[in-house]
Amino acid sequence: QAKATGRNTYQIFTPEMSKAATERLQVETDLRQAIENNEFIVFYQPIINAQTGECIAAEALIRWLHPEKGMIPPIRFIPIAESTGLILPLGRWILNEVCRQNHEWRENGQPMIPIGVNFSALQFRQNDVLDTIQEALERFDLPAQYLQVELTESLVMQDVEKTTQILHDLSRLGVMSAIDDFGTGYSSLAYLKRFPIRKIKIDRSFIRDLTHDPDDQILVKAMIDLARNMHLHVVAEGVEDEQQLQVLRSMGCHEIQGYLISRPVPAKEFQQFLGNLSTAPSFRNKLD
Ligand code: C2E
Ligand code: MG
Ligand code: MG
Ligand code: MG
Repeated sequence: QAKATGRNTYQIFTPEMSKAATERLQVETDLRQAIENNEFIVFYQPIINAQTGECIAAEALIRWLHPEKGMIPPIRFIPIAESTGLILPLGRWILNEVCRQNHEWRENGQPMIPIGVNFSALQFRQNDVLDTIQEALERFDLPAQYLQVELTESLVMQDVEKTTQILHDLSRLGVMSAIDDFGTGYSSLAYLKRFPIRKIKIDRSFIRDLTHDPDDQILVKAMIDLARNMHLHVVAEGVEDEQQLQVLRSMGCHEIQGYLISRPVPAKEFQQFLGNLSTAPSFRNKLD
């Protein structure tokens, strides 16, 4: 344990802090190894049309298959990958893997859908981000509309000039951009007009209590109306039950993502959603 010993010094590291620091270092070391050893797997979560139930898109979500610790969720390693720069090789791998997978689905005769890929700030601000995306698309002969970029509100607000420029370049390329976790950042509204984005994803914290909380109902309705009036597609994240689905449908939400339809699943399992008009059995019954 790090313990300050000299006179007039304070103990800076508590045992808990030192434990956390050690763990972090361990994750970093493991992460480097994991990138070399290809220990990652992309899961896919369906996004459905709220009116028809048709699977119209997917989100790619990374998992780390640690040889000893098992499956590690992104929250446990993406922040460390970002602060160490390891997100750059990892992010590049994810992008290529998603394009490869989409190409494979097409080769297998599956209907094609756009797949959303999450970008971290560091990754998005790289000067060669556009080349990286274009190369991945070309390598797998994938039309640009089958890739979507998901950026958090806080990311786009960090450097508005640069973000606007990259988003314009992406849009020219034909790649759609979405604002992820919408509503959790601040002063986003004024910029919606400036950014060439096509989609907002309402954060699941607004959806969780939607059925019971009148404040959430007001907020979500306002976000959906705002999006629709600005001709943006609107997706609700974290939809877990039928009541939430019904409320969102009645509010005119375009697209739905959440455990009600499916958890994120491996590519093989995801195939069942491709070309399936009505996705989850629970949803099927609810269609008017
Ligand atoms: P996100 O982009 O907002 O992704 C949605 C998260 O919500 C996913 O968590 C998903 O599994 C979860 N989710 C979906 N439906 C439901 C639901 O009905 N209920 C609940 N409770 N959760 C639901 P996941 O996969 O653990 O990812 C967490 C975050 O990690 C993502 O949030 C994203 O910010 C980041 N992330 C994931 N994959 C990547 C990646 O490839 N690159 C980068 N840079 N970040 C990633
Ligand atoms: Mg996302
Ligand atoms: Mg989100
Ligand atoms: Mg999130």
